Amino acid sequence: MGRGGERRAEREARLFVRSEQRLGRYVVHVDGELCDGCGVCIFFCKPSVFELSRELSLRGVYPALAVRAEACTACGLCELGCPQLALCVSARGEP
Ligand code: SF4
Ligand code: SF4
Repeated sequence: MGRGGERRAEREARLFVRSEQRLGRYVVHVDGELCDGCGVCIFFCKPSVFELSRELSLRGVYPALAVRAEACTACGLCELGCPQLALCVSARGEP
């Protein structure tokens, strides 16, 4: 991969490092550097907050993105199930 390709990959990876949507009651963070794209969070999340990205991360995987965080009910199943500890759900205004 040339330098241009590397820069593009780094820029895209930064976009994946934290995906969050600030419309709902809770904020859902996905650490794109830790995520291995296993899809466990997608399986457990009833309101379908997550989707896998169509873009590869620097790890060479399609990481999860919190595309419907406004639907999160803070059930905590994704945090419990994530084998990479890549997820964090918090109430708005909390760290
Ligand atoms: S806490 Fe529950 S509702 Fe919210 S993103 Fe995780 S699995 Fe989905
Ligand atoms: S469960 Fe964790 S590692 Fe697996 S796709 Fe979801 S955020 Fe990524």
